[in-house]
Amino acid sequence: MDDGLLTRLRTWVNEGQGRTIALSSSAGAVVLATVLSVWLFARAGTTPRQAVKAEGRAVTFVCKGCGERGETRVTFGATYPIKCPKCGEVKGVKAFKCVRCSTIVEHVPNGVSRCPKCGFAYKSLADDQPRGRPQPGAAGQP
Ligand SMILES: [Zn+2]
Ligand SMILES: [Zn+2]
Repeated sequence: MDDGLLTRLRTWVNEGQGRTIALSSSAGAVVLATVLSVWLFARAGTTPRQAVKAEGRAVTFVCKGCGERGETRVTFGATYPIKCPKCGEVKGVKAFKCVRCSTIVEHVPNGVSRCPKCGFAYKSLADDQPRGRPQPGAAGQP
């Protein structure tokens, strides 16, 4: 290694043009990181999906204990039955919203789920599809 070249390189980095380049590139990285984090934060604040990620998974349930039906949030690894936010019992079973009247319909595994309000029938999904959505009318009209 040429010591003279190394010394000149050090001098070049510490003084003059090299220093300016080194400084501006690190400043640029800081600016980029700030812009990126602000952008990500803004997205987290405005995108529902991002908010859901932060708070857990939104699930629809029907409580077999107290009859409460609605939506709540659980951790991503959680499975049914879930803890009912009203009575605290772990009796919240899988449910979904009726596409016709928005009533919470209890999901009947491997059967037919029927809306208690409008009677619309849904062909139920297998239990291994926790995020799936039953197809309206697949089991025929009421
Ligand atoms: Zn309950
Ligand atoms: Zn309905």
